Amino acid sequence: MKVAVFSSKRWVERAFSSAPQNHDLEFTFLEPTLTNHTAQLAAGHEVICIFVNDTADETVLKQLSAAGVRHIALRCAGFNNVDLETAEELGISVVRVPAYSPYAVAEHAVGLILTLNRRYHRAHNRVREQNFSLDGLLGFDLHGKRVGVIGTGRIGRIFARIMQGFGCTVSAYDRYPNDELAASGVRYVELAELYSQSDIISLHCPLTHETHHIINNDSVDQMSDGVMIINTSRGPLIDSTAVIDGLKRHRIGYLGLDVYEEEGDLFFEDLSEEVIQDDTFARLQTFPNVLITAHQAFFTREAVDNIAKTTIENISELERDGKSKNQLRSSEVRK
Ligand code: NAD
Repeated sequence: MKVAVFSSKRWVERAFSSAPQNHDLEFTFLEPTLTNHTAQLAAGHEVICIFVNDTADETVLKQLSAAGVRHIALRCAGFNNVDLETAEELGISVVRVPAYSPYAVAEHAVGLILTLNRRYHRAHNRVREQNFSLDGLLGFDLHGKRVGVIGTGRIGRIFARIMQGFGCTVSAYDRYPNDELAASGVRYVELAELYSQSDIISLHCPLTHETHHIINNDSVDQMSDGVMIINTSRGPLIDSTAVIDGLKRHRIGYLGLDVYEEEGDLFFEDLSEEVIQDDTFARLQTFPNVLITAHQAFFTREAVDNIAKTTIENISELERDGKSKNQLRSSEVRK
């Protein structure tokens, strides 16, 4: 089968060519992201392979269907960028990589916390300039702090266990609490309590209609003063305007982002010679207590190898059996 790989980068090509070659798939690596302007590049391919910032909405899916695309293979776990109902109506099957390395993302969230708290990024720059002063680098002990985890799936659970290892008291909110995590000492609470009783809040729920802007003016107002908010999940979980306001009012003490609601126009590209047009993003970058990484939480050797291997297996299953264990069906997806 011919597979058009959108949003391809050098690391994507490398990962697919070093994965086990026990398949007969033929890949075309395409740099553009999938949009209604680029969908026609899929012509002649039965499968397209897409990533987090590619768009497979109704318009794009109809174009893909007309071009002969029968399958979509997501190289990620989140699937908020695919209209599953329309895909089903058009007879296009959708597969994803449900877990390539939950450790990678959980560990990155911890990295953001440590860096925001102890300001490693600023300390590193200072020492390189032979400025050995400690002014402005004062942090706090993580031990004994209260951590709130929103979403205790694969990533949230690992994150919670790591934070327990630091000696934090961990509480969580999830519509489907996990018994094992609760038995390990994590207390499930309602969102209002999590907001008011956490020093650090980390988001690990998927982006759905319900979680869109889950962090907004109202939720920020319920949080304790100087709270640290970490988002390694999906950008639109946070209303950027609300957190900018919270930062200006000193209600939010620290903000760590690996995702941003309008990241599709920015992330994964080298824009160092460009003028950034997104004033909200530009404003976020001006705060000394905001740390942004460009959707790199997943980016470990183990995760990238798993993404390529599982994607190849998913497509091969579809080719062989007409279905895959990692297939997404709208009726089975929790809203
Ligand atoms: P998962 O499906 O294993 O877990 C998600 C959890 O969120 C589930 O327990 C679910 O019950 C819960 N949930 C659903 N709706 C909720 C709600 N309204 N409120 C609270 N909890 C809710 O997913 P995962 O593998 O742990 O991944 C979590 C998210 O991380 C993904 O959806 C994806 O968006 C994001 N992610 C980001 C990166 C990155 O590189 N930054 C990489 C992988 C995944």
